[in-house]
Amino acid sequence: MHVAVAGGAGFLGSHLCDALLARGDSVVCIDNFVTGSADNIEHLEGHDRFELMKHDVTEPMVVDGVVDAVMNLASPASPKDYYELPIETLDVGSIGTRNLLELARHHDARFFMASTSEVYGDPSVHPQTEDYWGNVNPIGQRSMYDEAKRFSEALTFAYHRAHGVPIRVVRIFNTYGPRMQPDDGRVVSNFVTQALRGEPLTIYGDGTQTRSFCYVDDEIRGFLALLDSDETGPINIGNPGEFTMLELAELVTEMTANEAGIVFEPLPSDDPKQRKPDITIARDRLGWEPTVDLRTGLGHTIEFFRSALAG
Ligand code: NAD
Ligand code: UDP
Repeated sequence: MHVAVAGGAGFLGSHLCDALLARGDSVVCIDNFVTGSADNIEHLEGHDRFELMKHDVTEPMVVDGVVDAVMNLASPASPKDYYELPIETLDVGSIGTRNLLELARHHDARFFMASTSEVYGDPSVHPQTEDYWGNVNPIGQRSMYDEAKRFSEALTFAYHRAHGVPIRVVRIFNTYGPRMQPDDGRVVSNFVTQALRGEPLTIYGDGTQTRSFCYVDDEIRGFLALLDSDETGPINIGNPGEFTMLELAELVTEMTANEAGIVFEPLPSDDPKQRKPDITIARDRLGWEPTVDLRTGLGHTIEFFRSALAG
């Protein structure tokens, strides 16, 4: 397949480019580097099936030649990034998604939308099933991200219904692994870099809130299973293993032998109290489930950050 990957220089996007190239597809990576990094795709420079297009997807774009799939991963994604880029986040989720849907329509390509578990907000249904409509504060501190993604999903389904664009919508749950940015503010990057620097781990709130962490290789395998299927989604792709932030801090502390301990800091507003995917649909319809447990995935992530910090 010929695949356009918007946000291909990001954490997940660069792993997706690798996986597509590894199976013989060709890739046009479209990115403006607002939160991504050239380092993530440096190794692909000169690859004969890889092309980089430096472009802001909120501006219309032309991709020459055949395009079989457009995959939209372009968006600031960590809370720290979207707090700093609120308008850009709403623009890329609305105007950017529309431009990429037009690109897919123009090429008769399928459109893959990277949505998020944040569409469930602070969920009152646990674990979260795809038919749960969510509990989102429309004007809260996270609203620029949550509502941008909810709008992206709505627009994607509107193009499907109005124009017959074939669509695949994935709801991604907290994913971690090599190529996360050390300063992206996410809990795994913060805890691991703090521990490797011998600093105390910062727990926001009392640390009883939960998240379910999926290793990046599992997540990308789920993307490809959905892309290749006939399912429109939305489909949850995440690891149902659920941990409190206290448990995560203890595991990182043990694995890095950090002696600096833990400090407690204020909980940001609207921080979801719990999050865990119900992956029945992914299992039944895509034959997908995660295989990498948290300890194993953290081991790879710690190694990555160890060399990133040394470099
Ligand atoms: P990331 O910030 O590493 O990647 C996003 C990429 O999009 C970056 O390379 C950035 O430069 C690019 N981008 C942003 N705005 C753009 C624009 N206007 N034009 C062109 N490129 C633009 O984040 P990530 O963790 O790799 O997330 C990728 C996607 O997956 C995002 O859409 C995010 O919302 C979604 N997602 C990720 C997670 C996760 O746990 N990592 C969870 C849920 C959803
Ligand atoms: N968190 C924390 N310490 C940190 C960074 C984050 O305790 O240094 C908490 C955060 O408040 C949230 C959870 O960890 O409850 C996951 O945060 P992250 O930003 O990784 O993802 P999201 O909130 O988007 O799920």
